[in-house]
Amino acid sequence: MSPIAPRREGWCPGALRPMQTGDGLLVRVRASGGRLTLDQAAAIAESALACGNGAISLSARGNLQVRGVNEKTMPDLQARLAAACLLDSDPEVERLRNILVSPLSDVDPAAAFDLAPSVAVLESRLAEDSALRPLPAKFSFVLDAGGRLPVGDIDADIRFEAIRGAEGPAFAAYLGGDDALAAILPPSEIGDAASRLAQAFLSRAGAGEARRMRALVERLGAKAVFAGAGLDARPRARSRRSTSLRDVLGGHAFGPAVVVGAGAAFGDIDAGRFRTLIERARSAGADGLRLAPWRSFFVTGLTPRSAVSFLGVCAKVGFLVHSGDLRMRVVACPGAPACMHAFRPLREDAARWASLLPAADSVILHVSGCTKGCARPLATAATLIATENGYDLVVDGRAADRPVRRGLSSVAIEAFLAGEGAKLFESERSGA
Ligand code: SF4
Repeated sequence: MSPIAPRREGWCPGALRPMQTGDGLLVRVRASGGRLTLDQAAAIAESALACGNGAISLSARGNLQVRGVNEKTMPDLQARLAAACLLDSDPEVERLRNILVSPLSDVDPAAAFDLAPSVAVLESRLAEDSALRPLPAKFSFVLDAGGRLPVGDIDADIRFEAIRGAEGPAFAAYLGGDDALAAILPPSEIGDAASRLAQAFLSRAGAGEARRMRALVERLGAKAVFAGAGLDARPRARSRRSTSLRDVLGGHAFGPAVVVGAGAAFGDIDAGRFRTLIERARSAGADGLRLAPWRSFFVTGLTPRSAVSFLGVCAKVGFLVHSGDLRMRVVACPGAPACMHAFRPLREDAARWASLLPAADSVILHVSGCTKGCARPLATAATLIATENGYDLVVDGRAADRPVRRGLSSVAIEAFLAGEGAKLFESERSGA
């Protein structure tokens, strides 16, 4: 197995190149298309118990991350992941497979089409095309099938929106930083289009300059990048549709198919409880697990009857199954001591503040251990950023944006949430 690379700033961790954090090595498992068999999910839970500290994080982009691994247990963890077909052959291929996919495109009749074959084409192109190896660490792809679980609010360097065109299924390809220009292509050409667009990015971005497509598009315009890729782009508005938590948590029927969606508060999963959940999913007749970008996952292949009892199991082992659960309104990074950059522990504060929030259908509070804001790249109604002197507050922005208040104490934050914050959240909800 490969040696463990030293920690690097801006690095996207994988299973072949883990990242050093405050609680040991963090190993991100990149499930193809976010789809796991129950055996694979069980292997991740067992690996976290045997080789990590028993904690698993579910990231904002729907990746499971095994925490608290060390250099001695790393080879065993990699061997376990390889046996479960969850390990890439090469760290560079693993790094490039930064693809977020609508989780139920094969189950949801309202989705444009099943994205699995397109994911396979894209992944094999990323693996085989050596011209793409210089792509920056966080260069990402999104495949959005629309339907009941759209991912239109999740940005990427290259975004493929699945459509049912007059001539059959197709993708509209968009570049990060431009929502109004798209190249239309058949699904079979996704690998070729991704490669051409990525190479157009590389040849124009220059070494060490634009590290993301958005920066390049702001400098040159999307038309120039499409032209460099030899793709004809026409005006077409990108979807911005996002998914309601009501369509994620709980039991859902998609025609005859029944799934259960379960959330992990703050993305924290206890590996022992996850193992129990997988065992019970197996006894309930489930056939798989889909990781989703809302710190949640779906268990598929249930019947209406088995879904009801499985929902009870999820709640009993600590997963969230009600969209009204206020913990789903808050996003928080691991904080200290799990992250070495965090100014303080966050979990207790975040849980207490969650209980003070009003009902809402989306995330309205982001609690961050520092200005990097890893847990949520999107703007949020209120963001609290830990500092040496309490918390700074950003309204309608990201963790790195300019705070409107600095150095707030817990008491001051609770007063804010009960007063001005409540009005802010209400105006967000009503769209005022
Ligand atoms: S936001 Fe800061 S404290 Fe939180 S995980 Fe990222 S680097 Fe660590």
